[in-house]
Amino acid sequence: MNRSVRFDQSGLITVNRTAKHAEDLSCRYFGLKNTFTKHQAYEYRTLSDLKDHEIIDHGFAHLVKYRLKPHKISSNPLFHDLYSICFQDHCILDVVMNRQDGIQLKPLMLYVMTHELVHIIRFSKFNQDFDVLSSMREKEEKKVHTITYEILRQLGDPGIDCVLDHYSPFRNPSIQ
Ligand SMILES: [Zn+2]
Repeated sequence: MNRSVRFDQSGLITVNRTAKHAEDLSCRYFGLKNTFTKHQAYEYRTLSDLKDHEIIDHGFAHLVKYRLKPHKISSNPLFHDLYSICFQDHCILDVVMNRQDGIQLKPLMLYVMTHELVHIIRFSKFNQDFDVLSSMREKEEKKVHTITYEILRQLGDPGIDCVLDHYSPFRNPSIQ
C-alpha cells in the first residue's frame, strides 16, 4: 500500500463537508443535540497529520483513544478521553481510484465518518467498552455497521446505496 497517496485539496474539502453531514445525521439518529459533537472530545485527521502508529494499511479509518492531560481535562467526566479518527487516505483513495465497483469518495467518506461517530457515541454515551475482547468487538462492529446502514439508507442516494451494498456482508443478516 502506497502511503504517499494523500487527499488533494478538493479531497480534503469533501472530507470536511461529509464530516459535518455525518455529525448531523448521527446526532439526529441518537436524539442528541448537535452541541454533542461540539463539546464531545473527538477529532479527525488525515494521513499527513498522522503519527506512524496511527497509520494502518487495511481499513479506511483507525479510531484511537487518548487520555487527555490533566490541564486539558474539563469538569465534565466525558471530556477525559479524546477519540481521534485517523483517516487512511491511501486505503480510501485506492478503492475510489482503482476499483471498478462505482464507489465514490463523497459517499464513502460519509459512510466511514458516520460509522466512526456511531462508535464514539456508543462508547461515550452508552458505555460500550473501547477495550473489549475480540469476540465482543466483532459483535459491536456488526451492530455499528447495522446502525450506520439505518442512518444512511433513508437518504435514498444512489452513491450511498452503492457503498451500503458494499458493506452488506458486515451488518447483521436480518437487515439487508
Ligand atoms: Zn468500526
